[in-house]
Amino acid sequence: MEKFDAVIIGAGTAGLSAGIALKRAGKSYVILDRKKEIGLPVRSTGAVSLVWVNKIGMPVKEEIVSSYIKGISFRTDTGKHVSLKYDRAVGLVYDFTKYEKYLADEMEGKLNYRLQTNVTSVDGNIVHSSAGDFEADYIVYAAGPQSAFGKKLDRNEVLVAYEEIRELPRRTDYDMVLWFTDKAPGGYVWDFNESDNTRKVGICYYPLNGTQPKAVLDEFTKSFSELNGKMLHTMAHQIPLAEPADQVVDGISLYTGDMVNAVLNTTAGGLQGAFWSGLSAGEAVAAGDPSLYQKKWDLEIRPWLMKHHRIHGKMHRNGSKSVGRLMTLSRMMPMSLKKRVFGGL
Ligand SMILES: Cc1cc2nc3c(=O)[nH]c(=O)nc-3n(C[C@H](O)[C@H](O)[C@H](O)COP(=O)(O)OP(=O)(O)OC[C@H]3O[C@@H](n4cnc5c(N)ncnc54)[C@H](O)[C@@H]3O)c2cc1C
Repeated sequence: MEKFDAVIIGAGTAGLSAGIALKRAGKSYVILDRKKEIGLPVRSTGAVSLVWVNKIGMPVKEEIVSSYIKGISFRTDTGKHVSLKYDRAVGLVYDFTKYEKYLADEMEGKLNYRLQTNVTSVDGNIVHSSAGDFEADYIVYAAGPQSAFGKKLDRNEVLVAYEEIRELPRRTDYDMVLWFTDKAPGGYVWDFNESDNTRKVGICYYPLNGTQPKAVLDEFTKSFSELNGKMLHTMAHQIPLAEPADQVVDGISLYTGDMVNAVLNTTAGGLQGAFWSGLSAGEAVAAGDPSLYQKKWDLEIRPWLMKHHRIHGKMHRNGSKSVGRLMTLSRMMPMSLKKRVFGGL
């Protein structure tokens, strides 16, 4: 049986960043994933705030960025809006496949990953998979929004997210438009530039009434001719919305990313939480002390996530009406405060 300092389950953002930390420290590790190719299927729009990208050391290579965000418009379908233009980029949208391939093969050199390897169970320090068993001193769980072994998330604690790449001309007014609407309770509809002739149009919301996300998006975009274009690709997935976990370390097991709800509930963005938690877990394993990850989680990562969890809870308490009030309030904010609020998300 092969033996490693660490076995990482999942080669998404969280697992790859854990691998980067272990490779930097010269430790032995293997990342196991059931998918056929890094970066596919696409799991994210890839929008992230640059403040946090720079703070936690996410990659910013030109080749993996599909667009930069210098103008943001927040709108409701009842006609309210707050629009901001910046003199610099405040966010970027990754080309998701290139971004994951960059993490896996270039950021720290080629990581040690095995694809088409489905993890079926873990017993103590032995990981069982479709490609055989692996022994590890530590196990980093980075298997995404459902647990590695089939545990389903509670329907009340997820947003369902669905996106279409549509044939639409690049927007020149705002790089990122977000609509708050009753059709997307708890979430929003987005419109981001993808290339000169395509845009990403998507929706995330509480999946409470069983309507298919495509039907919900179609119904919304029917009212806005600027969003109607031929669909070229789709992707759908769940985004955890529950409070971030308290405990992320259990003996030799460290839990990261969507598995521990490391998601900013205000934006439903999980790439930064996945990267930060994965990297921190990898660093703690490299130091031979998993409690360092729990400390980092308790003191820095969880409080940051909780701030967003609470704001989201307040915004959604009264449905979209409270979003409308928030928009009215935000229009009264001085520009310097708005820039801080929206630029720092
Ligand atoms: C439509 C949509 C749009 C989004 N847009 C954004 C956005 O713009 N910005 C943002 O920040 N976030 C966004 N997110 C959220 C973001 O994609 C996730 O939070 C993030 O990808 C989580 O990373 P992760 O590494 O924890 O999990 P994942 O990226 O889901 O990786 C988990 C990996 O584990 C593997 N795996 C699972 N089970 C097993 C097993 N048993 N054996 C082997 N391998 C296994 C999977 O194949 C997968 O590769 C979006 C999500 C969706 C669905």
